[in-house]
Amino acid sequence: MKWSWEKVFVVAGIGWAAAILVACCLPVSFGVRCGCVVALLLPAIWLSLRWTWWLARVPAQIPVFLMLHSVSDAVVDESCANNSIRPQELDRLIVDLKAAGYVFQTATEAAEKPLRRSVVITFDDGYVDNYKYLFPILKQHQVKATCFITNRGSDDSAFLTPKQVQEMYASGLVEFGGHTVAHSVLDTLTLEEAEVAIRENVKWLTEVLGVAPVSFAYPCGGYNDAIVDLVKAAGYRYAFTMHKRMRPVAPAPYHIHRQIIPRDKTPLQNYLLATRGKYKV
Ligand SMILES: [Zn+2]
Repeated sequence: MKWSWEKVFVVAGIGWAAAILVACCLPVSFGVRCGCVVALLLPAIWLSLRWTWWLARVPAQIPVFLMLHSVSDAVVDESCANNSIRPQELDRLIVDLKAAGYVFQTATEAAEKPLRRSVVITFDDGYVDNYKYLFPILKQHQVKATCFITNRGSDDSAFLTPKQVQEMYASGLVEFGGHTVAHSVLDTLTLEEAEVAIRENVKWLTEVLGVAPVSFAYPCGGYNDAIVDLVKAAGYRYAFTMHKRMRPVAPAPYHIHRQIIPRDKTPLQNYLLATRGKYKV
């Protein structure tokens, strides 16, 4: 039988319930029986409250969008350590999601034609470690991802170079979307400045990829109605926010929610975050 967290939850739940039932029927005094039942119930209640494994998963027909940034053992941005997941943490999350029947689509594929139990791993900013660590993991597991990138790789070695972007795109495993020229928080700019930041990034991506990008992520989640109009006018069909709680894409394709996957969590925490949206009450 193939292992998955979902099966662990079911087997553990049945096992625990059976143990409590057995404790109820023990041929001992009433007091001892009660003691045994309470001893089994209390940790079960604590575990269930601490780890909300019993929460329903996101419905199978709604794609799950996960937000990540850098993939590295080192923290690339000390001001936001959660921007960097360790390669082995990502690897394990992919293995666990696959075992539970999830399929990996690109952002546009999932927005347009979500498969059952679709999951989209998105990586913002285009850190160069996406080529060094993420790309080999994608190839090894043959899963797809989406990277939202700026123009910074043209002259800053911390970010994906045009050549690396082209190689990743040619593999068919990676969709590239926009993230403005230099990571501008759009709702803090004038509309003219925001328009240039979006447009020049589209131009750069189109030159590098040979096709126009379709999906966009608002840097730092900063946007408003006027920014949505600019993103639409730039030709984008989908835009991603930093709001949590998964929901269908169709009613609001420029307000797509994503669940962040933080750093240094256990495989169970990451799995619960990805599939339920939270792991504790
Ligand atoms: Zn960003």
